[in-house]
Amino acid sequence: MTENRSAADIFRLLADDTRVDILRAVAVAQYELEEVGSGAAVLAFSEIYDHVDVENTSKLSYHLGELTGTYLRKSEDGYSLSHAGERIVRFILSGNYEQPEAFGPEPVNGVCVFCGENALEASLSHQFFRIDCTACEQQVTGQPITPAQVNTRDGDALIRSVKLRSTEDARQIRQRMCPECGAHLSADVIHVSESALPDADPFVVTSSCEECLREYNSPLTYSVVYHPASIAFHWNHGVDVTTRGIWEFHEYVYDGLWTSERTATDPDEYEVVLRHGDDAVRFYLDSTATVVRTERVRRESGVF
Ligand SMILES: [Zn+2]
Ligand SMILES: [Zn+2]
Repeated sequence: MTENRSAADIFRLLADDTRVDILRAVAVAQYELEEVGSGAAVLAFSEIYDHVDVENTSKLSYHLGELTGTYLRKSEDGYSLSHAGERIVRFILSGNYEQPEAFGPEPVNGVCVFCGENALEASLSHQFFRIDCTACEQQVTGQPITPAQVNTRDGDALIRSVKLRSTEDARQIRQRMCPECGAHLSADVIHVSESALPDADPFVVTSSCEECLREYNSPLTYSVVYHPASIAFHWNHGVDVTTRGIWEFHEYVYDGLWTSERTATDPDEYEVVLRHGDDAVRFYLDSTATVVRTERVRRESGVF
């Protein structure tokens, strides 16, 4: 983490209605002015003055000076939003600091990874999207969700958006990029011995971001689902994995069609096999869950 300035100083800059209005006005003016392909719009002092309710130009000049360097960038032509300015103003405009509307419980496709029952229900709990099994009363998955994601959709559309976000996140995580902050992720594979998870896949990939401290965990089998070899393999079998939710993969692990095993130690190596009918795709992974090789295999004499 880089901590040149204190977080308190940075947030103190925003404890002022006029400054928040300035950031909002810059975003609104950019939205109205922006020409396609022109890059980030730069607003002249006078344009900002026209959009903000401020007593006089010297007051505006003072506030712009305070915001510049952290929330605004200044060039010869005027002002534009910095990365922090972008993040904070989008956060404010989207209302993502508000409570989301209520959602669920709503029945969803898929089986429970613990008991195999087709009894899954989606709901929101403490601003988290979660899926619970009504048969064995265990939570089968939980994912962060934004209030704007909930407030602009309902029912199926909301569930589709959860699948989309987790697909996009998984793609970045597999390639060691933190979906939250963009930093490099480290990854480890751990064996979960005391787990209620099916024996077919007792390994979990844990990816950590040393910058924003987010941690992402995924069963080893699921960590390769959006690898191009898996996408192509499933596509050939009429399944588009990119539109599936994580909980819709449970049946494959529960039925033992998707498996993982450790094939070497020091350094550790793993094999993941995803089966469909008489075909399978096999992934060879190193100790950081990086796919080093894949191959398609066909069932011969009953085994893969
Ligand atoms: Zn269950
Ligand atoms: Zn991060």
